[in-house]
Amino acid sequence: MGGSEEEDIRRRDLETGSDRNGGGEKDRAFDIQNIATHEFGHPVGLDDLYDEIYSELTMYGYSSKGETKKCSLEEGDIAGAQQLYGAP
Ligand SMILES: [Zn+2]
Repeated sequence: MGGSEEEDIRRRDLETGSDRNGGGEKDRAFDIQNIATHEFGHPVGLDDLYDEIYSELTMYGYSSKGETKKCSLEEGDIAGAQQLYGAP
């Protein structure tokens, strides 16, 4: 008993930055176009990416306040969509 509670809290803190439950982005004051573009990816079948190598992609699940790099779909996002639906 004991010892794991602190770790659970730390893990929860890490997950606060994610929208893995789908609604986490709503109450954040991020650039609205970032979020709109990111959220646009979900209905077309793209999942959030949490691997650090995807940190430049719009579908990266972790956002930091004020960032603007999610203003456009990046190559990897498009590649993901094309994997699902085929290239145009
Ligand atoms: Zn998302």
